[in-house]
Amino acid sequence: MKELLLLFRRFIPPYKFRLAKSVLFNLLHALFGIFAISMLVPVLEILFNGDALEVEKTPFQADKNGLKQFFNYYMSRVYQAHGPGITLLLVGLVAIVSTALKTGFAYLAAYEMIYIRNGVVRDIRRDIYTKILSLPLPFFSSERKGDIIARATGDVQEVEISVMSSLEMLFQSPVLIVVTLVVMLVFSWELTLFVLVLLPLVGLLIGKIGKNLKRHSREGQDKMGELLSTMEETLSGLRVIKAFNAGKQMNARFSRENEAYRRVQNRLARRRALAHPASEFLGTIIIVIILWYGGSLIINGTGSLTGPTFVTYIGIFYTIINPAKNLSNAFYSVRKGLAAMNRVDDILQAESTVPEPANPVSIGRFSRAIEYDRVTFSYDGVTRVLEDVSLVIPAGKTIALVGPSGSGKTTFVDLLPRFHDVSAGEIRVDGINIRKLSTRDLRELMGNVNQEPILFNDTIYNNIAFGRENAAREEVEQAARVANAHEFIMQTEHGYDTVIGDRGGKLSGGQRQRLSIARAVLKNPPIMILDEATSALDTGSEKLVQEALDNLMRDRTSIVIAHRLSTIRAADLICVFHEGRITEQGTHEELIARGGLYASLYSMQGA
Ligand code: ADP
Repeated sequence: MKELLLLFRRFIPPYKFRLAKSVLFNLLHALFGIFAISMLVPVLEILFNGDALEVEKTPFQADKNGLKQFFNYYMSRVYQAHGPGITLLLVGLVAIVSTALKTGFAYLAAYEMIYIRNGVVRDIRRDIYTKILSLPLPFFSSERKGDIIARATGDVQEVEISVMSSLEMLFQSPVLIVVTLVVMLVFSWELTLFVLVLLPLVGLLIGKIGKNLKRHSREGQDKMGELLSTMEETLSGLRVIKAFNAGKQMNARFSRENEAYRRVQNRLARRRALAHPASEFLGTIIIVIILWYGGSLIINGTGSLTGPTFVTYIGIFYTIINPAKNLSNAFYSVRKGLAAMNRVDDILQAESTVPEPANPVSIGRFSRAIEYDRVTFSYDGVTRVLEDVSLVIPAGKTIALVGPSGSGKTTFVDLLPRFHDVSAGEIRVDGINIRKLSTRDLRELMGNVNQEPILFNDTIYNNIAFGRENAAREEVEQAARVANAHEFIMQTEHGYDTVIGDRGGKLSGGQRQRLSIARAVLKNPPIMILDEATSALDTGSEKLVQEALDNLMRDRTSIVIAHRLSTIRAADLICVFHEGRITEQGTHEELIARGGLYASLYSMQGA
């Protein structure tokens, strides 16, 4: 339950006034409910012993007997004047009015609670999304995408269903129970003490059933995460699955996970299902025991209990059963929901491995150099992907990185915008360690064009203006012209307002490339990081893309990961990567003359 309190402390504060109102309404709800039932006492007394009329008007006293006499006096007056029929009618009317008030307040209490419930769930979703945006890239390679989606949707929903809907019960039932218990004490303290001893015993029994619920629940949600991951992989890999006829394999894997999920869910649901009959059965036993004990109190004439008060007492006791049941159900649900909340917290509480500096240094215009100083990097803390790499990239130059795949080129450039942090050594921009800059300032300095252009299902205009607020139409068009994209854009159905489909699915590879180049042109950063397309473009398209890239690199500092060596002959410096080190560097001519790895790669490509 400590976890639950922590959860409330984190998410409830913005809603504390509404919560207070809700509790107040519940209090009124309880009071009017009991008042309605208490009307039974005078009615029953009149019906069973009509001679027990209260004819003396005693001065009003604010205690149990005083209240009773006060009521009985007026009731007796009405009874004497109008007879039993009218009296019953009148009592009925009062009961109806107070019931109306009771239900009205119950509604108002729920009304406030609904606002809190949905508000908290919205807040959790918002926090997750913000967190996803701020977490460093490595987080998303170690946790699978589908699993993250499962947490952000399914688990949040689970929290919504179990914790948040229990919220109502957790704040309503105790109020109802306390108020009812107080009234019961007033009616008969002996009987109520007896009940109070009995109830915790029952609670203990019910608690036993719910014990394993939380563990099963977490297991279930984890399985759901696996399921969604497979679904996500399938959707994004359909092309390959079909081409390799791997449908059967994928299907078998999915069935396995699906079946495992079903089994966990079965176990969970069985335990849950047990809760209801068990508590109903125990509830009945308690009523019987109370009937027996209360009955014997009356028969023996001990205590203040009379027939009518006892019947009313039982009536009031009945009203405690529902909130008590709700409360115990709420505890079940909460256990289940907390398991989901733990999974959500794996995201919310994840520590960033790329910490922001507490007092960031500000950097003006980039003007001197980028320096990699004895940089070592490892993804897993074991295998070194980069080892002791040093390189100075003077402003305004074009540096090309070449080398076999897996030699560390992508990792090398990913360190610059701090997608990862170096394991040893440091990277400086104009002499400032990049860890001392805010990531925002640092990333403002650079633009990216990737092998696989990343586009969003939005208009062409918005895809180019991505990350730039208030980009003027002319600027966007100008960027598109520089990127050789304006013409094909104008040929699409709605021009710049054409929506390009999921990940730009409605465009050709070359067109996607040029859009992502236009985006970089518009951002106009001093440093460009390019990962050249390996995907074969047709010659015409390739020429347009190459031209666009040349335009983009002009007057900038560029780092290019090159796959086709023919395109980088003009680079100021070519660095050859091999197994995490730069093994050769120089201009094209120098490296050819040297006759090393570059020369052999070059002759292999027949360029
Ligand atoms: P290149 O760009 O030269 O092909 P990379 O920098 O992508 O090389 O990869 C270098 C090495 O790092 C490879 O052995 C690759 O398996 C490994 N690697 C790349 N990304 C990750 C990652 N996210 N987690 C663990 N290892 C990785």
